[in-house]
Amino acid sequence: MRYSTLEERKRFYTEEFDTKKVSDWFGRRIDRVKFAVIIGRHTKIFPEKYREDLETTIIIDGYRDLNDVREQIMEFLPESAYYDRNVYNKNDCRMGQELAFDLDPENVICPIHGGLAEKMERGQGLSFCNLEFNIVRDQAARLYENLEKEFCQLGIVYSGRGFHIHVFDEEAYELSEKKRRQIARSTKKKGFAIDEWITAGEMRLIRLPFSLHSLVSRIVIPLDKIELEHFDPVSDERCIPKFLGG
Ligand SMILES: [Zn+2]
Repeated sequence: MRYSTLEERKRFYTEEFDTKKVSDWFGRRIDRVKFAVIIGRHTKIFPEKYREDLETTIIIDGYRDLNDVREQIMEFLPESAYYDRNVYNKNDCRMGQELAFDLDPENVICPIHGGLAEKMERGQGLSFCNLEFNIVRDQAARLYENLEKEFCQLGIVYSGRGFHIHVFDEEAYELSEKKRRQIARSTKKKGFAIDEWITAGEMRLIRLPFSLHSLVSRIVIPLDKIELEHFDPVSDERCIPKFLGG
């Protein structure tokens, strides 16, 4: 997997980014969703006119419809696109937050390559091996099954690296910050390779389904639980952009 070029990002958002699928994925939750992009924080690939803002998180909250969002994304040609899990009312007050879990292979302690600290030492910080991916995929299935005991409306998304599990139950939106921190801590304690600050809510942005993850040139896609076991981002056409022959 490799970085996408600016030209490839442009091609993806022109030809492939499917606003209908984005709309279906949000359903009635689409109301007042804020989007965000980061142009080149990790890749250092950016349109010259945005050199000053290559690391900035740019919020997109003024738009007519999703096609307008797409056009604004195309203006920045970002490495990553996100949405804000906070729910706002019409006065822009925060009413709650979608609960989510981010399982990332970088948090897995690999039997061969060790943990993140050891990988950093060898300069392999953000890379991950097949074994680590398989571990995180199994964890996603187990975490989903655990969450099913408490919640009814769950979504799994291939994030381009690992997996996100989203909880759409009404009561999950209403959880207090304290409760979120507890859930994050206990999930981590059970051995799941999650980023705690996503679940705890300190980081409110999460990768936008059907957008391009330009660090790995993969499309972020929702998956059914039943597909998870055999999902392979190297060969699954749904997550391979056309510019790679997908
Ligand atoms: Zn490994």
